[in-house]
Parts: sequence; structure tokens; C-alpha cells
Amino acid sequence: MFCPKCKIELDIKEIKISRWTGNKFCKRCGAKLTKLSGFALASLILGTPFICGFLGSLPAVIFGIIALDKISKSKGKIVGRSMAILGLILGSLGIIAVLLAIILPLL
Ligand SMILES: [Zn+2]
Repeated sequence: MFCPKCKIELDIKEIKISRWTGNKFCKRCGAKLTKLSGFALASLILGTPFICGFLGSLPAVIFGIIALDKISKSKGKIVGRSMAILGLILGSLGIIAVLLAIILPLL
């Protein structure tokens, strides 16, 4: 991975990876080498029912799909894949919960 500040190709040992966001940093100068996907973060926040209720479920799924698409096309420059997947799963569960709440009383 190339550091734009040090202007060198970094060895894997010279890269620090954030446990929470997956962002990569240069150990030599501290420069951030990757960008966390805003869509992935939005998907996770919207998908968490404690924060947005079930209103956020559908946008969480949509943002999660957009995030995964952008992350896969970024060739490693954008991170947040696990965050997007989690948002996608939480959003899907939220939608299923809402559908069950609508359908079950009709049965
Ligand atoms: Zn550097």
C-alpha cells in the first residue's frame, strides 16, 4: 500500500489497521491511507433499532448495498465492509420484524 505523505510503498508491517473501522494508517507518519465508507456507517446506524426504530430498516439495507458496491469498486481505498454487512443484516431483520408484525395478526 502506498503512503502519499512518505511517498513510498509501505510494507505490511508498516501499516496499522483500526480494529473498529478497518481504516489503515501509515506507522511512519500516521497518515490515514483509507477512508471509511459513509454509506456503511449510515447503514449500521440506521439498521440499529435502538437508534432509529424500524423506520431506519429499509434505508439501512439500501445504504448497506451501496456501501458494499462502492467498497468492492474502490480497490481497498474505502473500508467498512463488515460494518455495511452488519447494517444490511440488522436492516433485513428489522424489515422481517415489521412484516411479521403486519402479517401475524391477519392469520
Ligand atoms: Zn506515511
